[in-house]
Amino acid sequence: MYIDPNAAAGRGIVFLVGAGPGDVDLLTLRAARLLGEADVVVHDRLVSADVLAMARPAAERIHVGKSRADHCMPQAAINALLIRLARAGRRVVRLKGGDPLIFGRGGEEAEALHAAGVRCEIVPGITAALACAAGAGIPLTHRDSSRAVTLATGHTKDGAPDLDFAALARPGATLAIYMGIRTLALLLDGLTRHGFDPATPAALIERGGTPHCRTLRGTVPELVAQAPAWSTGGPALVLIGEVVARGADAARGRAADRHALAASGTEASFAGDAAGERSAAASDSGAAPEQ
Ligand code: SAH
Repeated sequence: MYIDPNAAAGRGIVFLVGAGPGDVDLLTLRAARLLGEADVVVHDRLVSADVLAMARPAAERIHVGKSRADHCMPQAAINALLIRLARAGRRVVRLKGGDPLIFGRGGEEAEALHAAGVRCEIVPGITAALACAAGAGIPLTHRDSSRAVTLATGHTKDGAPDLDFAALARPGATLAIYMGIRTLALLLDGLTRHGFDPATPAALIERGGTPHCRTLRGTVPELVAQAPAWSTGGPALVLIGEVVARGADAARGRAADRHALAASGTEASFAGDAAGERSAAASDSGAAPEQ
């Protein structure tokens, strides 16, 4: 069959889609629909098998990376692949963990597609900071203690974090650090040199937005000491700020209420806060694992 290349190119499109943190029901309805209509799905390592299973059965699936040590395909080659597929008239879903524009190089892909004259649409996803905060019951903002949230990367450039530590060390805000487990000691060093209070509450949250979500609470120095033994190697995010204690305080408050009610013989139901109570009790002494 002859395919007019111009007509085919006109039909081709790349959807830059956020797959969310892993659970299928944290995918947007739009992402689910586009997966069901895709000719090709080009995906990263962080995209879960359950989300990939939402793709049209006949859709071609192409895995393009990336873990830290194993870059399956260089970024330029990924950009070229997306352009080639769209120019062949395919409906391409470029699927990325979390949100495609948060530390996912989605911006670079969108620029490359735009420069090549390829149609591109962006579909947001639930980013790790939101999924982890929800999983750990930590409010990212709070009227009394956090009026800003900063998303930062712990990824190093030439062995050193390339961050404005003076800005990040300011109190009154919440800091969410992506890709920060391995460089946490360096981050702590940079922050404390710029006035950060090392006693600030913090949490390390692994596999947020999935049933395997785990939380380690403590100060940043405690997390630095305990993270290597605690981590199972799953994706993890660091949250730093007074709000982390508020999450624990809230759980502790609920537990205290329950004990008071039990003592008074009043019946009450506190669905789903058992883990919070456990962590609140444990967090009295140093870094406290949950779950
Ligand atoms: N675009 C993604 C982030 C990609 S960078 C997003 O919006 O979430 C990869 C880093 O994100 C990981 O090293 C980790 O720090 C964080 N991350 C991704 N998924 C996560 C999850 N389910 N739980 C905790 N952290 C996660």
